[in-house]
Amino acid sequence: MRSLGGGVYVDPAMPAEQFQGLKRVVEGARRRVALFYGATSASPNVVFCASQDCYCDLGGIGLGFSDGAHVLISPQGRRHAIVAHELAHVELASRIGGLERVLDLLPQWFDEGLAVLTSMAREFDDEAWSEATGEGAAAPALSEIAAMNDWSRRTGPNGEHMQMTYGTARREVARWFAVVGVDGLADLLTALETREPFAEAYARIEREHLNAAAQRNGVATASEEQPRQDPRPFAPESLRGRAAW
Ligand SMILES: [Zn+2]
Repeated sequence: MRSLGGGVYVDPAMPAEQFQGLKRVVEGARRRVALFYGATSASPNVVFCASQDCYCDLGGIGLGFSDGAHVLISPQGRRHAIVAHELAHVELASRIGGLERVLDLLPQWFDEGLAVLTSMAREFDDEAWSEATGEGAAAPALSEIAAMNDWSRRTGPNGEHMQMTYGTARREVARWFAVVGVDGLADLLTALETREPFAEAYARIEREHLNAAAQRNGVATASEEQPRQDPRPFAPESLRGRAAW
């Protein structure tokens, strides 16, 4: 493999006009990951194959692939969204203590949903999901896309039902992230490190953020309403009932 520096490698068979710009794609993808995780803890190599043969020989599946430590990108996967998706998987694995632990501790829908959200892949927006799932009516429950084999079966051998799995997962993680934000995700990672079960930590962190938001809103509402609590701001008690004329 030919090094472009910064942990970026290209297939030696790749012509120069194809690998120019790849470092920029990786930089952009790293920035997307940093938006969700804050500073990144993993520094994976990103390897770009020039041909499908190279990609398959190295064990790649789909458009991009990661083994939890490094990233491999197919000839069709040379874009921000695909690189960011795989970098997100590596970052999560690095935070949790390796791919094995991710597979043990987390439902598939969370790992993939967070990767799709981080990737900002346009093909998984709400509109595409609504169309593919009949406004959600045909979407699986999260419990049905938690196990790896269920996930693969529902995605389909050629990814023909990706909206059902990747799309549904993105939607749920986007909903949760909108409530808890970067801090909540960091809390979740800490909780997993300290062996709190995923389902408990996921629900607890959302509840805490909702409660905190409700409290903030309560304080704001109370202070806004305060002036209206005095019904007669210009009529001191002592003058009530007395007419001056
Ligand atoms: Zn993925």
